[in-house]
Amino acid sequence: MNKARLFVVSAPSGCGKGTILGEVFKNSDVFYSVSCTTRDPREGEVDGVHYHFIDDAQFEKTAAENGFLEYAGFVKHYYGTPAEPVIRNLSEGRDVVLEIETNGAFQVKKAMPEAVLIFILPPSVDELKRRLNKRGTESEAVIAERVKAAADEIAKAYDYDYAIMNDGLEDAVRDFETVMRAAKNDLSDADMFRTSNKTIKNMINEVLKNA
Ligand code: 5GP
Repeated sequence: MNKARLFVVSAPSGCGKGTILGEVFKNSDVFYSVSCTTRDPREGEVDGVHYHFIDDAQFEKTAAENGFLEYAGFVKHYYGTPAEPVIRNLSEGRDVVLEIETNGAFQVKKAMPEAVLIFILPPSVDELKRRLNKRGTESEAVIAERVKAAADEIAKAYDYDYAIMNDGLEDAVRDFETVMRAAKNDLSDADMFRTSNKTIKNMINEVLKNA
């Protein structure tokens, strides 16, 4: 049996990563890590399912006790990956997926170099603005902050192992599954999605245009 893999997925909010991962998980037995956050739940978000919603004091206590595999501040709130379930699932042979922002992703890569970092790109920053507005869950000021954060995040995609683009759900799911399978089995099938590939570098440049 292949060794269990740790996949770290990042994408700016509004990029559709939740939908892509939802589809991918239908067909696989991966452990999806539920993060802790100090932000308030959005409508429809369930404690323990989408996040563990905790307050600043609880967050700081867990961090001080080394309970997080990684953690980071993002748009005025803290987000962290509980370490224990990730380590346990990997040691039981199950693949694990973290869905986290870039600072956290690089912390994980440093601590666990065998982790596979995958970035999901929006078709463009303009399209991302449109999606965030359409979601209608945040104020204009928060959306502006998130768009700025998104552009900063996308600029770090060059340092991921792979990048795929979400310009259509079906294709994005297929590309994501190709990357997971190739990374897991040390295959070259997903080499076209490696960020060392010139086409992918150009794709990231293109997304960042007008940001
Ligand atoms: P949102 O508030 O839109 O749910 O998430 C904001 C950002 O925080 C997203 O980029 C998301 O991937 C990231 N995030 C979610 N959980 C974690 C975590 O445990 N650690 C880190 N570093 N980032 C996280």
